[in-house]
Parts: sequence; C-alpha cells; structure tokens
Amino acid sequence: MDLIIGSHVSFKNKEQLVGSVREALSYGENTFMFYTGAPQNTSRAEIDDNLTREAHELMKKNNINPVNVIVHAPYIINLANNGTNYDFAIKFLKEEINRVQKLGMKYLVLHPGSHVGLGINLGIENIINALNFVLTKDTNVIICLETMAGKGSEVGSKFTELKKIIDGVIFSDKVMVCMDTCHLNDAGYDISNFDKVLEEFEEIIGLDKLACIHINDSKNEMGSHKDRHDNFGIGKIGFDKLLDVIYNEKLDGIPKILETPYIGVNDDDKERIYPPYKFEIEMIKNKKFDEGFLDKIRTYYK
Ligand code: FE
Ligand code: FE
Ligand code: ZN
Repeated sequence: MDLIIGSHVSFKNKEQLVGSVREALSYGENTFMFYTGAPQNTSRAEIDDNLTREAHELMKKNNINPVNVIVHAPYIINLANNGTNYDFAIKFLKEEINRVQKLGMKYLVLHPGSHVGLGINLGIENIINALNFVLTKDTNVIICLETMAGKGSEVGSKFTELKKIIDGVIFSDKVMVCMDTCHLNDAGYDISNFDKVLEEFEEIIGLDKLACIHINDSKNEMGSHKDRHDNFGIGKIGFDKLLDVIYNEKLDGIPKILETPYIGVNDDDKERIYPPYKFEIEMIKNKKFDEGFLDKIRTYYK
C-alpha cells in the first residue's frame, strides 16, 4: 500500500512554494495541498520562478512527487450562479490554472458552487458553461470537482450532479473529482460502509475519475448538510472508519489530504491555534488512536 498523505499548508508571499514544502515536511508528509493565496479571497501575488525551482528541488530531495501535490481554488469562486460575479469567477479561474501550471502542479480542486436560488439544473448548466470557457485543448491542469456537503444551495453533494457536469464539459478528460469524507458524511453518504460508497461512485462516475480525497472527521451526523470539519477520530465518523478510507486498497496511490481544524489553546481560543497535522499523521501511520493527542499538540507548540 502506497500511502500518500499530506495536509493543507500555507503559501505565503515571501517564501511561496518553498514555505509550503518546508511546512509539509515538518509534519512528516509526502504530499500537501495549498491555496495560491488566502483561501477566502482572490488577491494573488506574482509567482516567483526562482522560489518554484527551489521548491521542486526540495521536493525531489524528499521524495515528494509534484503530481501528488494539490492546489485548491479559493472558495468564493462560484461558477453555479451566473449573476454579477460570474465573469470575474471565470477570468480568475483561467488565471489560477496558469498559476498552477507555472507552479508545476497538475490538480486544481474546485468547489462546484452554489446556485443561490436558480435551482440545481441551472446551477449545473452555469458550471458547465464556465468550464467550457476555461478549459481548452491546451490546458495541462485537471480541475477536480469536490464532493460537497449540500449546505444551502451547494451543487455537487450527489455523485449524479458531478456526473452531469463532467458529461457537459467538452474537454471532460480534464475534469476529475476530489472526495471529502466530511462532506460525503454530511451529504448523506455512509462512510462506515465506504466500499459501498466507492461502488456507487464507480457505477455513476468511475473510479478512474477520482483524483484525490480530503480526509476530515465531521462535527455533525450523516446527512446534516452542515460542513463543519472535525479533527481526526474525534468527530461523528470516528478513527477506525477514517483509517479504513485511508488504507482502502481501491484508493492505493491516491493523495489523501487532511483539512482538519487547528487546535486552540482553549476550546474557544481563536488566536492561539496550532496545526494538528503532525500528530494526526503520526496516528494514521501508527494506525492507533492517541487519546491525548489534542493536549500533545498544545504542549508541543506552546
Ligand atoms: Fe474544499
Ligand atoms: Fe475539502
Ligand atoms: Zn469543507
């Protein structure tokens, strides 16, 4: 079993990709995921080719294969509603694809979007039209549509919706899927019977279309449509079920990315918060839950 595991890491203006690689290595990862700037906005710095080169050397030295590294588009990009921000979203996505290419990466994860009152069918149509604007025969980047929780009017909480999008895209070979265990659970898919979820995915979309998988526990029950991530093993999905996903033979070689929340010094602390990834990955590699891992994180970073 080829375990390819990483987490969301930062991408800061000064060090750019070099900083991201260093952060991933500090957590014991052999892959990672980053946004090319802040996840919640679209202000983006010019990519510095020297830093990118340095980062790729560092990856090579540490056996991180760039093809396993994932870029995530900012989540305010909404292709499902063709209102005032639609043209901007399309333009931004085009530029983002160029940045991903420039950074030497292949996979760009994208939330399909929210139709905001237009209805699911129009939402899907808008997404298809936008992707057909953006993707050309020369595009070297794969757009990975993420499975969503179905919060509000989100499109993509059902495999059938993602399938419709893929089928409508002209260059559909450049569209794949990124699963998210928290989102799947919240959308109503039963992670405790993950083989059945994969069977359904295989029937509707095809396992060859699965590019990566976000590994998160969920704070809410199956079918809640909430989308609140929890730390590994302490949410409603639980340690054993998440471990079964990670070590599922059918997902061999597919990058697994943690997006679990940072840990506050106190439960309600919003400022003094620390990344849990080094400790969660340790548990994943040991295949053993550590009751005291939250306290260990707090002690380690204090
Ligand atoms: Fe996401
Ligand atoms: Fe996700
Ligand atoms: Zn989420």
